[in-house]
Amino acid sequence: SKAKLFDEKTDTKTSFKDVAGLEGAKEEVQEIVDFLKYPEKYTALGGKIPKGALLVGPPGTGKTLLAKAVAGEAKVPFFSLSGSDFVEMFVGVGASRVRDLFKQAKEKSPSIIFIDEIDAIGRARGKNNFSGSNDERENTLNQLLTEMDGFGTNTNVIVLAATNRADVLDSALMRAGRFDRQIYVDLPDVRERKEIFEVHLRPLKKEETLDIEFLAKQTPGFSGADIANVCNEAALIAARKGKKAVNKQDFLDAVDRIIGGLEKKNKIIT
Ligand code: ATP
Repeated sequence: SKAKLFDEKTDTKTSFKDVAGLEGAKEEVQEIVDFLKYPEKYTALGGKIPKGALLVGPPGTGKTLLAKAVAGEAKVPFFSLSGSDFVEMFVGVGASRVRDLFKQAKEKSPSIIFIDEIDAIGRARGKNNFSGSNDERENTLNQLLTEMDGFGTNTNVIVLAATNRADVLDSALMRAGRFDRQIYVDLPDVRERKEIFEVHLRPLKKEETLDIEFLAKQTPGFSGADIANVCNEAALIAARKGKKAVNKQDFLDAVDRIIGGLEKKNKIIT
């Protein structure tokens, strides 16, 4: 069977309620939801709906989640692919996969295309600093640019792309009519971490007295993904000990474990 490069989800249930914090980013993407829902309203005076926006920020801060929530709020299909899979798995077929992806998204429009890790295909051309065929990557990037330029004004497909390295991207991607909007998705501050904990504590059985503010204060530098991890680890730690509810100590143990994991990861990178 043909390897699947992109996932299509028409039933995405993700909404802005699932995205804690990120108020500024949510406000900006709310506009994209409106473009998808009421295109005629925006084109009435001759204006053109933007084709793409770049979500920029550190790993695990909710860029994918936010893109899914845009699709969920607008009730449109979500087509996604990851730049890194692309380069690794589909050598020789990158450009045709991009063509297929856009074709399908146009057929199902209004729709969202999400490209995670766009830097894997969108690095500035001529800089041969990735492991794979550079021609292949350039062909894929060129196809992406061609597809975005080829959108008619009434196509109503919006392309969201995520990166934590906007500085390495080919400037052609950022030109008007392509990814000409950048939306910053930062690590959460203490108040946002509390909100993220609240989202991920919802499904857990926890002690009534658990102090969520305390947990937020114990986790500086944690991303949303790290916090989701802490909540899950804490539930597993408590369950292993045969507890009926997760308590403060379980969370502290989980935080230690996640910090240990983060330190190990950093050691490998540097
Ligand atoms: P990467 O750059 O590594 O792809 P990302 O920015 O796309 O990361 P997500 O994949 O969206 O991050 O986040 C991973 C998970 O972390 C989410 O599915 C969610 O469970 C949790 N998470 C991250 N940010 C938030 C947030 N702001 N609110 C709630 N949960 C969050």
